[in-house]
Amino acid sequence: MNGTVTNWAGNITYAAKELHRPGSLAALRALVRDSARVRVLGSGHSFNEIAEPGPEGVLLSLAGLPQEVDVDTAARTVRVGGGVRYAELARRVHGEGLALHNMASLPHISVAGSVATGTHGSGVLNGPLSVSVREVELVTADGSVVTIGRDEERFGGAVTSLGALGVVTALTLDLEPAFEVEQHVFTELPLSGLDSGAFETVMATGYSVSLFTDWREPGFRQVWLKRRTDQPLPAFPWAAPATEKMHPVPGMPAVNCTEQFGVPGPWHQRLPHFRAEFVPSSGAELQSEYLLPRGHAVRMLHALDAIRETVAPVLQICEVRTVAGDDQWLSPSCGRDTVAVHFTWVEDSEAVLPVVRRVEEALEPFEARPHWGKVFTVPAPVLRGLYPRLGDFRGLALELDPEGKFANAFVREVLAPA
Ligand SMILES: Cc1cc2nc3c(=O)[nH]c(=O)nc-3n(C[C@H](O)[C@H](O)[C@H](O)COP(=O)(O)OP(=O)(O)OC[C@H]3O[C@@H](n4cnc5c(N)ncnc54)[C@H](O)[C@@H]3O)c2cc1C
Repeated sequence: MNGTVTNWAGNITYAAKELHRPGSLAALRALVRDSARVRVLGSGHSFNEIAEPGPEGVLLSLAGLPQEVDVDTAARTVRVGGGVRYAELARRVHGEGLALHNMASLPHISVAGSVATGTHGSGVLNGPLSVSVREVELVTADGSVVTIGRDEERFGGAVTSLGALGVVTALTLDLEPAFEVEQHVFTELPLSGLDSGAFETVMATGYSVSLFTDWREPGFRQVWLKRRTDQPLPAFPWAAPATEKMHPVPGMPAVNCTEQFGVPGPWHQRLPHFRAEFVPSSGAELQSEYLLPRGHAVRMLHALDAIRETVAPVLQICEVRTVAGDDQWLSPSCGRDTVAVHFTWVEDSEAVLPVVRRVEEALEPFEARPHWGKVFTVPAPVLRGLYPRLGDFRGLALELDPEGKFANAFVREVLAPA
């Protein structure tokens, strides 16, 4: 690889000494063994320095390796290579009559990069994408290949690892029989409509439910309800059905979005909001997201409503989702059923960062964990206090990477001893 490499959003230019795209596992292992500092770049959809190797480091792309997708229909599992994206994985898995339990808002992202940061979709009973992972294969600092399975204690740190343990060369994921989903959009749900227990009820009306607001009013412009066709059709008395197809970001074309108006379709063409062949979201943006215990949801929404005049001018759209608690030590939804509040900002860091800080102040009472792959300013000591199993992760990183070959500045700050 030559030339400048940036992330998808273009707000980060990686300062690597060398960029490499090995063509075989053997070449990858030798490169890792012989390099002092290494980071892998997935599909580059993170908005911060999490993938940055630093000026002395090597930035690795896995795009030159075979893009393995090996479905075992009898075991209902798939082994997927470290550079494969969800769009390709989903197409192949669906072709075998099988499915993943959930997807993020877009299929463009790599599987390994997504589970490394705790990426999630929505659904009161759906854990983050990492809950599908049953085995991780890593090339560690000395070039060895290490496999860590779900039955091992150290698996708790192996999936949502921030890329700090080694190069993930393959993941084995659980699958289930393919299912169909229909997507219904509703408009204008007032914030007061979620009080007195209604939040939980609204979010449980579908397999996956998202609320969208631009915070120009105290309420939600859109509700996206994704119903599995093998589950009952819910009544939705809280808001009116949309009369036209919609994009969550005001002014953007609905053609970029997955099919609406209750037309049933395969899981992988309804669970993401954005279609694989179009630019997802607005394409010119920054993003932040915070995950907090679900019991705080309504108070959190009112706390944001109190600062909406600060938030709205730099906001394209805010999305509220739910995530079921999981067991990965560094997962933002670890150990707690979660509400996630996401912000798609305008692409102007100078204007956005003070507002991010203001949002973080408003969320302070709620033990909010920032999404690892998005813009945040929460200081590292505060972050460390939010992860009770951080010490266990530190131990695992020391075991697999004693010299800190995979620990960039971002990771070193998160893992620094108190
Ligand atoms: C338009 C848009 C929509 C989004 N929607 C959602 C959403 O719905 N839900 C959500 O939770 N997030 C969402 N995100 C955030 C996104 O899912 C995360 O940033 C995710 O990490 C992106 O995966 P990636 O492969 O692009 O990761 P990258 O940014 O390339 O990398 C992320 C981290 O993973 C590491 N990594 C990547 N591959 C490997 C590997 N093979 N081995 C070791 N380490 C590796 C990198 O070193 C880095 O630390 C969205 C982002 C965008 C741009």
